[in-house]
Parts: sequence; structure tokens; C-alpha cells
Amino acid sequence: MSKAYIFKCPQCGAHKVYSPKKQALECKHCSSLTQIAADREVFKKPYMAGLALEVDPGTEIQGCLSCGARLNMLAGEISGVCPFCGAGNIVSVEGSEGLKPDECVPFAIENEDAERNFKKWLLKKWFVPNELKKKARIEKIRGVYSPVFAFDAFSSSTYTGVLGKHYTTYVGSGKNRRAVVRTRYFPISGSLSLQHNDIMTECSPHFDQKVLNRLRPFDLRSRAKYDKGFLSGFWADSADKDLDQGWQDCKAIADDETKRQILSRYSYDVVKSLNINTTYEDIKYSYMLLPLYVSSYSFKDKVFSFFVNGCTGKIFGKVPRSPVKILLAVLGALALMLAAFLLGQHFDLIGTNPYTYPFG
Ligand SMILES: [Zn+2]
Ligand SMILES: [Zn+2]
Repeated sequence: MSKAYIFKCPQCGAHKVYSPKKQALECKHCSSLTQIAADREVFKKPYMAGLALEVDPGTEIQGCLSCGARLNMLAGEISGVCPFCGAGNIVSVEGSEGLKPDECVPFAIENEDAERNFKKWLLKKWFVPNELKKKARIEKIRGVYSPVFAFDAFSSSTYTGVLGKHYTTYVGSGKNRRAVVRTRYFPISGSLSLQHNDIMTECSPHFDQKVLNRLRPFDLRSRAKYDKGFLSGFWADSADKDLDQGWQDCKAIADDETKRQILSRYSYDVVKSLNINTTYEDIKYSYMLLPLYVSSYSFKDKVFSFFVNGCTGKIFGKVPRSPVKILLAVLGALALMLAAFLLGQHFDLIGTNPYTYPFG
């Protein structure tokens, strides 16, 4: 068992936890505050293959016997129930310390705000059964930091390829004269350098990239060098991906961005071939925590999870749908897809060099 590392109030000895509203450690008993000397510099370290993340002494991994979740928290904090399944079968995993984050985006909204936002969100979902709006039983909402890898890298690419542009021409004569669409092919070649900033990939078993994309933006301006104070009173989900896999995933995102920016230089309709050779230099990373509130509600013996962005209160979750309203729900989903598409287009338009990935 690691040594307890909880923040004690210097005035009354009670447990101090991080208060999103006050942006400081607050004593639950006497309300006294302790500031965290937050270092707001972007904090990245050079990446090399084979690097392992450091452990964070003073933290411990707690495991849920019901759902298998493994959560990192300050050693000695009282755990209570699992934020993912609501079961009370949490045990500390003997002798295991959590991984040490480099950076953290602290929680900015309180538990109660997250819960209020969720209820509002549920009421606005008009295709949800009315019964649910009245009867949904919400489990306690809990703050869980979700870990991501954030990479910076400088890429130098050279490329060759063949693109095609459609044009209309007329063939035949007299009555047989008609328009046909032909494609004119042209070779391309060139080079492109890009500075990629904050390419992010999730590394938690509980949130996939889609969930994080749906919950963004996170307020990356409030990022701070990790301090144990930010973790006090919260959980951190543990990574299920190593750093090398994290870089492979981020590199794939950066490769896509390079391809997109190369193609954006040309007016074309089809890509016949495109070969890109890219080398990456000056690769830096941070293991970063993003703030999420997590909870679930039960309705007709089914459990539905939902997530709330701990910076903005934005919600993502699954809801049961009323069979009567299902057709309209489908139309609603189409509208959402269109919105997501338009949003995607918007983000494409703001791409500049240096390119900061639209997570924040
Ligand atoms: Zn106190
Ligand atoms: Zn659980």
C-alpha cells in the first residue's frame, strides 16, 4: 500500500479537494482555500521510441471488481463507488502507482453544474420518451480525468502524383452532337513542411476518440503543468495504450492532415495517384488529462452512460428512444450529422500553418 497523499487542511485537518469554481484546493469542512501555483506553460517532452511513462508516487490504482475499471487517485483518498458502473466494489490494487501526467486541463465546472446541464439536455431531447424525463434515476455524477497523448511534430514531405479534372466537350455532329464529360490528368509534385501542434489521441479504455471528438472543445488555454492538487477529489482513468502506439495514432492523424493540405493546393476532381514521403522531426509529447464528468442513469432496467465536458458542460450520451417518435428521431439524427459535417467543414477552413488540431 502506498503512503497516503491527501491534502490536509492546515486549519482543521480535514480533507481538501480541488474546487473547479474557486480554482484552488478547498476544505470541505471550514472552506479555507489553498492556491495551486499552476504553471501555465505548455509542457512537452522529447519523444523517442520505446519510452515508457513515469509512475506518479503518492497515487494508487483502484480497481472495480464489477466492471474491471482501473482508476488512478491520490493514495489514501476514500474511493466510494465506481464512476463507470456505480458498483461499490472498489479495491486498491496493492503496490501499483498511477502514471504521471505531464499536463492537465483542470475542471472548470462543478458537479452540480454538470448534473443540471444533463437534466436540461435530457429535457431538450424531444424524441426521448416523456416517461424518462420524469422518471430517470441519475447516479451520482463523478469527475474523472480522461488521459490523452498530445503530440507536436515538424513534418517535411515531398510528393508526386496524378490528379484529374473533369471537363465537358462535345462529340458528333448534327443530330448526334452531344456533351460528354472527360477527365484531363495532370502530374503534380512538390514539397510541404508543417508544424503540427497538439495532435491528440485518446488512451483510455472508457472513452474512444469519437466520444472525445463529440465533447470537444476543451479549454486548452487553461492547461497547466500537472500538480497533484488538481487530482484531489477526482479520479483519473488509466491509460490502456503505450506511448509508441499513441505516436503511431497521432502520426496517422498528421499524415491525413499533410495529405489534405497538399490536395488543397490544386483544383481537381479525382486523385489517380499520390505518393507522399514524410519525415518527422522534433517530436514532443505530453501525457495530458482532460476533465470529464461521468455518470449513468437507469430507465426500464437498462443503464445508459453519459459524459459531460468538465470545461464547458457539453454533453454526450446515449438515450432510449420512444418507438412512436423513432421516425422523427431519425430525422433529428440526420440533422445532427449535417451539423457535424458542417462543423467539420468549418474546422477544415481554419487550418493554417502552424496547424493546431481542433481539440481546444
Ligand atoms: Zn479546514
Ligand atoms: Zn465499475
